[in-house]
Amino acid sequence: MPRAPAVIGNLVESAMGRPAQLLDAREPAPGFLELELHAEPPPGGWHPGHEIQIRATPTQGRRYTVRAVGVTDSGSERITVLAATDADGPGTMWMRRLRVGSRTTVLAGRHRPLREHGSRRLYLGDGSALGTLDACARDGNASIVAVEVPAEAVGPLTDRWPRYRFLSATGAPGDALQTWLEQAVGDGEVETLDGAVLLGHAQSIQRQRRVLTDSLHLPRQAITTKPYWATGRAGL
Ligand SMILES: Cc1cc2nc3c(=O)[nH]c(=O)nc-3n(C[C@H](O)[C@H](O)[C@H](O)COP(=O)(O)OP(=O)(O)OC[C@H]3O[C@@H](n4cnc5c(N)ncnc54)[C@H](O)[C@@H]3O)c2cc1C
Repeated sequence: MPRAPAVIGNLVESAMGRPAQLLDAREPAPGFLELELHAEPPPGGWHPGHEIQIRATPTQGRRYTVRAVGVTDSGSERITVLAATDADGPGTMWMRRLRVGSRTTVLAGRHRPLREHGSRRLYLGDGSALGTLDACARDGNASIVAVEVPAEAVGPLTDRWPRYRFLSATGAPGDALQTWLEQAVGDGEVETLDGAVLLGHAQSIQRQRRVLTDSLHLPRQAITTKPYWATGRAGL
């Protein structure tokens, strides 16, 4: 529901809205905002990787992902969302506007996990996908995780997640990741992998999938893709 008449948005909100309150907001690295919210759980409870929606304006929704689920000091559930702030659209503005203590509404249904394949996986994405990649890959030691982020964020994010490779964004979106991927395939660094998860920038995902199918000969069914944003489009 990137864009819908306000009346439709109201209906969706009345069916899926969960009252929420911002408990904490921090900037873990330049270009990122991490929000911790107490939010009434949807049927089945909150899960890492859970998709949520926010009504950024009465007519515009944006989707985000729960990176982690924890428990507050008072024993209630809290969820963490990691947002990239490179875009300047209504979703990013909504994130920036929230203040600790603010009450809001997030939209969520029952959790539907990403369908992943294989056991030794390659996870690729950009800053918008870091929260999801962490939710999916944090326990899989056999996996390789590579994330393209703004240059100034590489240091702080590497300190926090030393197992993930953070690549400094250069040129067009996805270029740094593409260069790394082509090199990793050429060097045999990823040849034992049997599955892949590609998230984030739509046009970059297409290029990455081509390398994995054509050069690494990974079957298309072994590759999970989910675009989060696209050049030339607002919302997705
Ligand atoms: C299922 C799903 C889960 C998602 N989970 C997350 C998440 O956990 N964290 C997160 O940060 N985002 C996530 N996204 C992306 C998020 O919904 C928004 O696309 C993003 O916040 C930008 O929204 P916006 O309204 O600020 O910009 P938009 O109005 O969507 O776009 C404004 C302009 O910015 C460009 N743009 C959009 N995103 C980016 C970007 N990341 N970098 C550079 N340019 C951009 C667009 O091409 C457009 O030109 C998810 C998307 C989907 C579909």
